[in-house]
Amino acid sequence: MKRQPPADTADQDLRRENALLRGLLQTLGRDAAYNQQVMTRFQDRELALLSAGDLVRLLERLTDGMRASFALDSVKLFLFDPFNVVHDLLAANADATRNVMRDVVLCVDVQATRARFNDLHDPWLGPWDGVRHQALFGRRLGGSVALLPLRQPDGLAGFLCLGSRDPARFTTGQATDFLAHMAGIAAVCLENAVNRERLRLAGLTDSLTGLYNRRHLQHRLEQEVTRAQRYTQALSCLFVDADHFKQINDRFGHAAGDQVLVALAQRLRTRLRTSDLPTRYGGEEFAILLPQTDVDNAYSLAGEICRGVAAEPVSLENGDTVALTVSIGVAALPATDQRPARVAGEALLQAADGAVYQAKREGRNRVVCAVNPVQPQ
Ligand code: GH3
Ligand code: MG
Ligand code: MG
Repeated sequence: MKRQPPADTADQDLRRENALLRGLLQTLGRDAAYNQQVMTRFQDRELALLSAGDLVRLLERLTDGMRASFALDSVKLFLFDPFNVVHDLLAANADATRNVMRDVVLCVDVQATRARFNDLHDPWLGPWDGVRHQALFGRRLGGSVALLPLRQPDGLAGFLCLGSRDPARFTTGQATDFLAHMAGIAAVCLENAVNRERLRLAGLTDSLTGLYNRRHLQHRLEQEVTRAQRYTQALSCLFVDADHFKQINDRFGHAAGDQVLVALAQRLRTRLRTSDLPTRYGGEEFAILLPQTDVDNAYSLAGEICRGVAAEPVSLENGDTVALTVSIGVAALPATDQRPARVAGEALLQAADGAVYQAKREGRNRVVCAVNPVQPQ
């Protein structure tokens, strides 16, 4: 027959076991609370990504937002952009984009960029490796990194790179479920934001030249006039009309005429600041709104455009060259103008348009400045 242990020994064993279990339970409870905290932080970040209203805000949340909420030392976002689609979308919004672009890298050479990452399918976590990682983060960080592939249905869209000076922050073998889930959400959000931005811009721009369309000009005109009036800033407008464009079409064909319009739009664009608003107003007519530009500066810019266009014939795809000149009307909003923004804006456009007609009458290939016709009556 088996001997029973004495009662006090059994009691001690029970107590020990009890204490052990209690300790284990406490540890589990702490782990659960910690995991809950981590999960909540991930969920908050994912919600922030899902609710970013536009592409610029999404990029901000993927970089600055991620760094702040996960207390990281550096976050870089690599986006594959072989056809410059994202680049062009962001360029249309250059002012708002400047800050965020410090941490966003648009990669044209997709193959070369892929080769810089350790794993193209799953998150890669591990210690800082100067040779591989310095080029990604643009500086020495030390510590550890997480590289998250952003996968979209039609392929890899890029990588989100998280860097921490803490070597224990991202370690090989660490669970990556939360990071992988967040990268999935980020990739879907990016795809949606890029598509939304493309659609938005398609509604604002002219499909032939890529400049803004007349509808957008009308919308922005009121805003710009309001801003100029409120801060007593200058606002000028150029109206550019291609000379004898009908003859160019007649001689070279309509398709060639289209190429000339594209080249003209490009020449206008290269002489403007990012805050200027070049628009295709009609067939071969362009209106350019110049915020914070007085009439003298607008006049000299118009002169540069006029001389620049005349000096360099447009080369067509078939090798022909087309000589082109433009007539330009210049008008400026008077500093004292306090009429309603819509009325003052319309008057500004009309004045620039009237000045073009005068330039045509005076022989074309010239700049005419409206003589104060924008003054309030
Ligand atoms: P002016 O010096 O007086 O401005 O003469 P013009 O021939 O430029 O002016 P007019 O208004 O008589 O003709 C404008 C021409 O521009 C006629 C039209 O076919 C052409 N045009 C308008 N839109 C387009 C376009 O999208 N593509 C091409 N190829 N031609 C266009
Ligand atoms: Mg014309
Ligand atoms: Mg015309």
